[in-house]
This record gives sequence, C-alpha cells and structure tokens, in this order.
Amino acid sequence: MHHFHYQQDELYCEDVPIREIAGQVGTPFYLYSHATLKRHFLAFDKAFEGVRRLVCFSAKANSNMAILKLFADLGSGLDIVSGGELFRGLKAGFTPDRVVYSGVGKRVDEIDFALEQGILMFNVESLAELELINQRANALGKTASVAIRVNPDVDPKTHPYISTGLKENKFGIDTETALKAYKIAHEMDHVRVEGIDCHIGSQISEAGPFKDAMQNLMALVDLLADSGIKINCLDMGGGLGITYDAETPPQPDEYARAIVETAKARSLKLILEPGRVIVGNAGILVTRVLYRKPGKDKEFVIADAGMNDLLRPSLYKAFHAVQPVQQKDAGIITADLVGPICESGDFLASERDMADVTAGDLLAVMSAGAYAYTMSSNYCSRLKVPEVMVKGSEFLVVRERQQYEDLVRGESIPPFL
Ligand SMILES: *Cc1c(COP(=O)(O)O)cnc(C)c1O
Repeated sequence: MHHFHYQQDELYCEDVPIREIAGQVGTPFYLYSHATLKRHFLAFDKAFEGVRRLVCFSAKANSNMAILKLFADLGSGLDIVSGGELFRGLKAGFTPDRVVYSGVGKRVDEIDFALEQGILMFNVESLAELELINQRANALGKTASVAIRVNPDVDPKTHPYISTGLKENKFGIDTETALKAYKIAHEMDHVRVEGIDCHIGSQISEAGPFKDAMQNLMALVDLLADSGIKINCLDMGGGLGITYDAETPPQPDEYARAIVETAKARSLKLILEPGRVIVGNAGILVTRVLYRKPGKDKEFVIADAGMNDLLRPSLYKAFHAVQPVQQKDAGIITADLVGPICESGDFLASERDMADVTAGDLLAVMSAGAYAYTMSSNYCSRLKVPEVMVKGSEFLVVRERQQYEDLVRGESIPPFL
C-alpha cells in the first residue's frame, strides 16, 4: 500500500531499493513514486465523482515535466501562478482550456501569453488587474474569462506564511469590493464573468475553514444573482493538508463532502486546485551523512543536503520525518540534522530523535514531494539536485543534476572589466 517501505531493513521506493538509486545517481536527490502520484490524483478526483468538476493540479507544488505529464494524462487541469508555469504546463501536454491562472502580480507579458493561448480562466486578484486584463484582451482581440479571487477572511489555522485568506493577507479581494469588481467586470467588453474563486491557505488540517469560506462565497453568489450576474463555476483553490508528523487532515472524500452539496445545489461547476495533497507524500529527499559532530550541548548530524535543497524546515520550521535508508540496531540519538550551508537556519530537522547514524549512511527526508524541489536554489553555488521517478522496478532520472557550468550559464564579464 505504502510505496516507501522497508523490506528486510532496507528502504524501498516501490520495487527499487533506494540504496541502489543512490549508488547510480549520487546524493542528494529527490525521489518520486509514480504509483503514489497516480493514486493520490485519482483518489482526489474520485472524491468529487458525480459533480461537474475540473481538478487543476497546482504547478508550484511540483512542476517537474514528468509529473505534469503524468497528471495531464490522467485528465488533470493546471493551476498556474506565472508565465513560466504556463510554458511548462503546455510543454508537458496540458491544453490551455484546462489552465487557470492565479497570483497577485501578473505582468503584461504573462497576461498576453495566457490570452494568446486561450486559458480557461484568470483568477483576478485586484481591480487594477481586472482593468489591465480587459485592456490587453481588447488589444489582442480576445475575450478573457475571469473569476474574482475573493478573500473570505477566514482563519485556515495553518502557519502564518501559508495562510492566504485572512483580511490582512495580500491575496484576493474582500467580499464588499468583490461585489463592486463583479459589477465592473460585467460591464466590460473584453471580459466574461465565469466564476468565483478563493484559496484560503495551505496545509489546512480541518474541514471547517473550507466550509466557512464556501458560505462567504455563496452569500456573494446570491447577491450577484440578484444583480443579474450569473456565476457558472466555483474555484475552491487548494490547501488540503497532509500528514508530515501527527496531523490528521480530512481525507479527500471528507473534504469533498464539505463542498459538493452546495456546489450542486447552485449547479456550479467545481474547480479544485490541489497541490500538496497530491504530491507531498509521493516524494522524498535522499541525503548522505557526511559527518557526526558532537557539540557541547548538542549533537549535529551533517548531511550533504541543506536548506537550498529543501527550504521548508528553515522557512516555516516545517517538520519532515527522517528515516534511515538502511535500518540498523544502533539505537536512537537526539540531534540536529543540518546541511553544509553557511547559515544557522540551515537545518532539515532540529532536536530530533533519530536513528543513530555514521558517516556514509543514507537518510530519507520524508514528505518532500511538494514545495521542495520547486523552492530549491543555487545558494552558495550549490548544484541543484536531480529528480528521479520510480515506476515498479524501473527508475529514471527525470531531471539531471546540475553541473558547475550550469552555475555560470548566462553570466558574462563586461568588456570594461
Ligand atoms: C499554492 C496554491 C494552490 C495549491 O495549494 P496546496 O496547499 O498545495 O493545495 C492552489 N491555488 C493557489 C491559488 C495557490 O496559490
């Protein structure tokens, strides 16, 4: 059932021993399970069976081309937040009519790209953006389908950095202004009002906030109907959480139950933008222990992966379980698992009870399929790590490890130096 599992004390991904992959590709690397990716997407989609819907995978969670292609083939749409993600999505096989575009800072060139391609819908985040989209659609001889991203002012009870639906957040338009925005949009010549949208945050571990957001949006849908503005689709965004440690988020079918009846009652087509819940637990980061460093107060385990490879612990104090690739009977230590980066915030796990390890041992940093590779950087001129996909007993490098030459590509030394 679980596709990262031990067989005779050795960690496997599906039918492949992880040690074997490490031997061939070196460390660190990201590793994804094809079976898990597929199962998670299909389970999510199936939870909404019987409802008109489009599940638009959120590209920023993981935008590797192989993963995007897999979802495109399973019938997914794509939720993008940049022109770059649109480019990737199209290249991976998504048709533009399955793409929704969110984000507070869409540039003119990005809006034009999306209009030229004919995407399904812009999720508009301000009045100024609405004006610009109308103008650009006019200039290009197109009509833009839009939803207004409403900020329903509900507390998603998650980390403040990934809460997006509170009135103090930069996202969306408050319900009062949204009403005005819809009336303006309704009068525009090059904009078609299609939907209503929200996205209240990420790693949400209860159904309540989704229900609250839904109610706020429905109140607005009813007000709009009174003004003769018909909403065809409801985009509920993403945000469903996963288990990193001991969280017990709703399963997709419980989440679906919180949403589906209301959508059906108003014959709204549903759009969903899941990211983390699909890919988060379908990937791991594999790293090798370089050194043990016993401190006066603390024990450090120094690994060859750091915050530039996996930023979440440093950025959000996020928890990622750490498991040995080879289980030994060596006991348990309490240590900080840190990387080679010159920052005290560079850690993968802090004050963690973990398997006793020695230099050379492989560790699996679990739940690293979402907001992991996509947030990685070249900080400290470290090479970005490869991504590997396992399917059954096969594995393939789906992104190569960078080489030193990649670090300076595009840089030039001016002649006046
Ligand atoms: C990031 C994001 C998502 C995906 O969020 P998850 O928590 O990964 O499901 C969906 N919609 C929008 C607008 C986003 O910004």
